[in-house]
Amino acid sequence: MSSRLDESITGVKGVGEKKAALFLKLGIKTVRDLIYHLPRSYIDCTSPVPVMMTELGGVNVVEVEIVRKQAPARIRKGMTVFRLLATDGTDDLTVTIYNLQYLFDSLKIGEKYLLCGKVTGNLTRREMSSPTVIKSTSADKIIPVYPLTAGLNRNAVTVAVKNALSLVRPDELEFLPADIIKKAGLMPEYDALRAIHFPRTRGEAEPARKRLAFDELLTLRLGMTEMRERVRRSTTFAMKPVDISGYTSALPFRLTGAQLRAISECMRDMACPTPMNRLLLGDVGSGKTAVAAACCYFAAKNGAQSVMMAPTEILASQHYDSLRGFLEPSGVRVGLLTGSLTKKQKTAVVDAAKNGELDVIVGTHALFQTGVEYSRLGLVITDEQHRFGVAQRSALAQKGENPHRLVMSATPIPRTLALMIYGELDISVLDELPAGRKEIKTYAVTGKSLRSRAMAFVRKELDAGGQAYIVCPAVEAGDGAMKNVVDYAKELSEGEFSGYRVGVLHGQLPAAKKDEVMRDFKDGKYDLLVCTTVVEVGVDVPNASVMTVENADRFGLSQLHQLRGRVGRGERASSCILITDNPSEDVRKRLKILCSTNNGFEISEADLEIRGPGDFFGSAQHGLPPLKIADLASDSELVALAQSTADSLTDTGRISLPGCEPLRERVKRLFERVEE
Ligand code: ADP
Ligand code: MG
Repeated sequence: MSSRLDESITGVKGVGEKKAALFLKLGIKTVRDLIYHLPRSYIDCTSPVPVMMTELGGVNVVEVEIVRKQAPARIRKGMTVFRLLATDGTDDLTVTIYNLQYLFDSLKIGEKYLLCGKVTGNLTRREMSSPTVIKSTSADKIIPVYPLTAGLNRNAVTVAVKNALSLVRPDELEFLPADIIKKAGLMPEYDALRAIHFPRTRGEAEPARKRLAFDELLTLRLGMTEMRERVRRSTTFAMKPVDISGYTSALPFRLTGAQLRAISECMRDMACPTPMNRLLLGDVGSGKTAVAAACCYFAAKNGAQSVMMAPTEILASQHYDSLRGFLEPSGVRVGLLTGSLTKKQKTAVVDAAKNGELDVIVGTHALFQTGVEYSRLGLVITDEQHRFGVAQRSALAQKGENPHRLVMSATPIPRTLALMIYGELDISVLDELPAGRKEIKTYAVTGKSLRSRAMAFVRKELDAGGQAYIVCPAVEAGDGAMKNVVDYAKELSEGEFSGYRVGVLHGQLPAAKKDEVMRDFKDGKYDLLVCTTVVEVGVDVPNASVMTVENADRFGLSQLHQLRGRVGRGERASSCILITDNPSEDVRKRLKILCSTNNGFEISEADLEIRGPGDFFGSAQHGLPPLKIADLASDSELVALAQSTADSLTDTGRISLPGCEPLRERVKRLFERVEE
């Protein structure tokens, strides 16, 4: 059956080569891409108000007739102003249009239009500028608002979408079996797309959105299951049970019950002929590294190599130090491979890895560059996994003969989200902190006087021999509201912290420099470290006892919790001070959650609820196909429905039977996108 869906959009009426190039900037190549380019929001022109009833300063919809068009005025180079006079029959409205000649030309004297735009004026006169315009006679009075790009206006996209929709037959878009649609109470696919682009009423868009969200969740879940099955079908080398007391007895502490449980789950997996595929989920400080080290020990005693990949150089070298400390006493050989090594150092590590002279190789992405080979790779561990994408995850798994995989996440993710994001993995949870951890006291601070008291408190800690962090948002020149870390550090070291040793750390420093600063801080060469969220992940400085966060309202709760986890790692009683100038009730409520609990899982639940999953990791760092429509937080019922539908399709084997081809096709396409 031939379908136009996968043909180029140049086949759509009104889309030529030139427009097609612009659409490409939006990631739209095919007819299918175009009809799935969904509106961000709508402008609802269904209920216009009389001109004099418009709200000053607000966006309003009016229905008016054009009375007069003035001659265009060129006020400066590249800026032409068009003015029109319109009336609703009772009152006049002056309309101003900037630069859009075609819009001005399209408005005809004596015709009626619906205009939506910001209204200014006074008690007796009203003006509207840069309105969105449709004809009064238009059938579509709810206007879709699309993501656009320069050169492509709303109208061009709207028309293209409309024409694209008219090219496809409703039945060729449907990919779900009829009984599933019926049981889940969903709209047919074509109707859903039509309604989400061009809803006739306000109410029509919601069931359409529900159908498309269900599609997303269902295909995502099926794709995850398939990934998992693919791993399960492959074989690896099954390791033999090993007594790990040689490892545990060399540790400077006793493992927690949760750590022991996770270790035995991993050992059980690794003793199977199918690769382990496990996520180790644990709050900051729950001791994931010691679990990872146990797995490396287990692999080494089985004659297999392990690699451990971290997202940054700092973290990689810290893991290297920890793993060496944990493993070398029991004779396991650990090496470090990062981009910043000298050529000579690199060659030495690469050779040692290849010759099997190393049991564990810790590093960054450099671990998987071409030219790096392992003699008997049995275990791949990745830390802070959300910084790597699904595609990277599978690329990693391809080195060696299907090695066992352990993924560590420092973000305690709510279970619903974990299932979505890590659906292809088994999960071990570290839900217990090592004994003797002191609770980190957290305070939220607003206003100048409280702020200076907080700074005095920090100085007191430094005087008592402690160290402190002050985190402020990313280095960003030119934004007056945000403090540039470098300038801010200077300000502090000349002002409130003069006489103290102040270090600066931010993401734009070269990797080697970052490493050096962090190391110096760890070695006590600085009292205070002024930094960006570079320190967010895993860096361990036991003597640091205060974490201060400026503009705390700019961070997500989970991120703040991660930051807080940088202190409270040693003997000192520790605290976290969250500073904000934002006095809003909303901010206060959010920060209060952090002050009231140290439980990362609780915090991430709250975060998910407040910010939604899109923002969850800062910027879609989880590498999943982005959910364009579904909202994991508010669509929880739909998530459950999609999950049970997907699971029953796979459990019964129906997914591989005739009738499910279009659905399988969908799943495949979803993941192809990710690989790109
Ligand atoms: P995270 O889970 O955040 O990666 P780490 O593995 O970095 O945590 O561990 C945090 C700190 O706790 C490290 O200094 C580590 O040596 C220590 N640690 C780990 N397990 C235990 C334990 N069972 N008892 C005491 N300290 C521990
Ligand atoms: Mg860690």
